[in-house]
Amino acid sequence: MYIKISTVAVTVLQIAGFVQAATDKTTTTSSSFVIGDYWKSFNSKVDPNNIVLGDIPQTTSNDPATQCKYYTPPTNFNYNTKEWPNLWETATSNGMSETAEFKKVYNAIDWTKAPKIAVRKSGADGALVMTGYDQNNDPDCWWSASTCTKPKLEGVNEDIYTCPEPETWGLTYDDGPNCSHNAFYDYLEDQKLKASMFYIGSNVVNWPYGAQRGQKNGHHIADHTWSHQLMTTLTNTEVLAELYYTQKAIKMVTGVTPKHWRPAFGDVDDRVRWIATQLDLTTILWNLDTDDWAAETSAAKATVKKTYDDFVAMGANGTFKNSGQITLTHEINNTTMSLAIEFLPKIRAAYKNVIDVATCMNITHPYQEDTVTFAPFGAADNAKTSVAASSVAPSVSASVKASTSAGASNASSSSVSQVANSDVAESAGVQLNPNYAVLAVFAIAAYAL
Ligand SMILES: [Zn+2]
Repeated sequence: MYIKISTVAVTVLQIAGFVQAATDKTTTTSSSFVIGDYWKSFNSKVDPNNIVLGDIPQTTSNDPATQCKYYTPPTNFNYNTKEWPNLWETATSNGMSETAEFKKVYNAIDWTKAPKIAVRKSGADGALVMTGYDQNNDPDCWWSASTCTKPKLEGVNEDIYTCPEPETWGLTYDDGPNCSHNAFYDYLEDQKLKASMFYIGSNVVNWPYGAQRGQKNGHHIADHTWSHQLMTTLTNTEVLAELYYTQKAIKMVTGVTPKHWRPAFGDVDDRVRWIATQLDLTTILWNLDTDDWAAETSAAKATVKKTYDDFVAMGANGTFKNSGQITLTHEINNTTMSLAIEFLPKIRAAYKNVIDVATCMNITHPYQEDTVTFAPFGAADNAKTSVAASSVAPSVSASVKASTSAGASNASSSSVSQVANSDVAESAGVQLNPNYAVLAVFAIAAYAL
């Protein structure tokens, strides 16, 4: 129903677009601000190549309760709640879509070129409503409906969803920084492993030392939105705010502005991709999904371990003889981080390369700041081949694609609301709002189990 826009509606949109275009022209002529420079306005005091972590128990202890106790933010990041969206609320909250700063960014975008794709709806259970959408033809390249990754619009960045090089495991962890990650990050550092870390904006300002640790250790830092919602259900302004304020949070805390992002639950279509592209962001998805977030909640830990075992086996049985993969895993809680530590030795034994996505794609500048560089593929510690990766991932084998589709439909149906809830519960360290004190009790109770 919401796909077919009536002629009247289209006319109204065109008129609105004309008016907007005229307004934009005035705005643009009066200032030299161009959208590609948005990140230059962030006044970060952090040198990404010289991060010093605070000498406090939260940065060194391995006790989750100690790590997740509130701490005074680092002196190089002053967190003023009035300058940010409310934690875990849509990033337009707290008046953040009305600030001069945000309006400048919004008005620098030529919205007349934005695709006229409907904002999706979610049902009472939190799952996306796909009634009325032509899933077979998939006109909007809606990943949740079809696992589409190649936009149908010109000028929109194409998704990365697999590592192109053979026998390569693309290492990715979502939903951090988690306050109790010391043991996990220590392990990765000790093993010289680099991962793509998809950080949630609310978590970054909440646990700034966690994000600084990620940057200090040379992980590939990427944007995972401010409040972890289904992005296709948000308006254009909301989508922009979710991405923009997370970019700002990551820059202010770590000193880098990511060029990559991952939508929560993989929920992206060409409208959301187009807005991300305005901020020079490319979508990174996955083609293998461990469902590790569900371990010990909606799924047995043994089930997740079996999935891990299957993916490990693919490294040695020829599945990835001609191309690699990107696996979805999380740093959402101690269960998922412990599973990672348990399986990484097996993964490394089965795959030639276990590396972050920037490296597997041979992207040596994954941030706007050219002062931070990554080694090319093949030069990295964990790469055993010297073949340069191509810029666009080839298609994966039929068997892998099949498992991707299954994962996608799971992610976009019953599991969506559960993931969202557990994200909130796990991010509970802030005591800036009384509600978070309640959540903190849940989080600490969960860690104590
Ligand atoms: Zn997530």
